[in-house]
Amino acid sequence: MQLETDLLHIGRPQSGPASVNPPVVRTSTVTFDSLAQMRDTKRRREQGERPFSYGRRGTPTTYALEDAVSRLEGAEQTLLTPSGVAAINLVLMTLARPGAQIIVADSVYQPLRRIVDGWLRPWGVRVDYFDGSVAHLQSLLTDDTCLVYTEVPGSLVYEMQDLPALAALTSAREIPLVVDNTWASGVLMQPLSLGATVSLMAGTKYVVGHSDVMMGSVSANGETGRRLREMAVTLGQSLSSDDAYLALRGLRTLACRMDAHGRHAEALGGWLCEQPRVARVHQPCRPEHPGHAWWQRDFRGSNGLLTLEFEREVSDAQVDALVDSLALFGIGSSWGGYESLALPCNVAAARSLSTEWSSRGPCLRLHVGLEAVEDLQADLAQAWQAVLR
Ligand SMILES: *Cc1c(COP(=O)(O)O)cnc(C)c1O
Repeated sequence: MQLETDLLHIGRPQSGPASVNPPVVRTSTVTFDSLAQMRDTKRRREQGERPFSYGRRGTPTTYALEDAVSRLEGAEQTLLTPSGVAAINLVLMTLARPGAQIIVADSVYQPLRRIVDGWLRPWGVRVDYFDGSVAHLQSLLTDDTCLVYTEVPGSLVYEMQDLPALAALTSAREIPLVVDNTWASGVLMQPLSLGATVSLMAGTKYVVGHSDVMMGSVSANGETGRRLREMAVTLGQSLSSDDAYLALRGLRTLACRMDAHGRHAEALGGWLCEQPRVARVHQPCRPEHPGHAWWQRDFRGSNGLLTLEFEREVSDAQVDALVDSLALFGIGSSWGGYESLALPCNVAAARSLSTEWSSRGPCLRLHVGLEAVEDLQADLAQAWQAVLR
């Protein structure tokens, strides 16, 4: 079946009479009929099964969501965490080793820098950043590289990378390649099918899709998947069944929401390019976007994100005034919900290798929601008229 079809059917009660959606199972303790049954459950768990044994290990509700995300990511196993940042930390705690080296793409989600610079380095992990290219990664790899971490497209301005080529390089040396797949959220790209070892997502964004739950996921195959599951239990990283229920509810409509977000964002991106004082629109679907050919090859479409780069003469105060004069774009962090958002962003502060950003114009990230695109365009037009005419 196509992904869209499977996402509607996975993790639902199989025999009737039954509710359409799986019920919320709230529990810490799971009780057994006999000690023999309890011990048998433990044995099955040790053999790699996923029986219902204790709340921290998961419930039928969280397992249903795990199965749906595994289908989305094309993975054997998925672990759920209470946020996207917790998913990142679960992967780092499982794969990074004191004394060894990790290599991180310069274009990653900014808080990752806080994690690696503020926590991993003091714990004795060597950290290097690479510029996203195969050549630079190759020049940094050593015999004790324990993981390579990237995100495609990059945060804020969507730098593209040749993911299959990066994966060929790391897999030849048996180094795990970790990809933050939040931008594509599984419907637009599946890192494991392109050769990555681990794919993680901030489910908070498009999987949940309604801005009302925090959640993360980590997906992998084989031994890596088993190690991640054991580490999640060791670290006490689990998702509540209520949150899993809402995330699974959101995930049912992920494919059609993403389709609408992509259409709206592509339409507005084209229109925004023509507006006064706009130097360029950063959006991987645009033919002039660096690495556009990789995006066309590896991705199924666009999401709702685009970032405007204004001419250098435009001041930060003008961008702030523009944001304040928008009526339909909320002001707030995050993205992936059904609503439109606008947020000025400081790209220079989020990069350490590429230094060009400090001499470019101010940037404004838009998340284009599911409102009628004509209404969004009219809102942007009145703001331009008021501030940047
Ligand atoms: C938002 C985001 C995260 C973190 O997710 P939270 O649920 O907010 O912790 C991680 N990676 C990327 C690319 C994100 O955009």
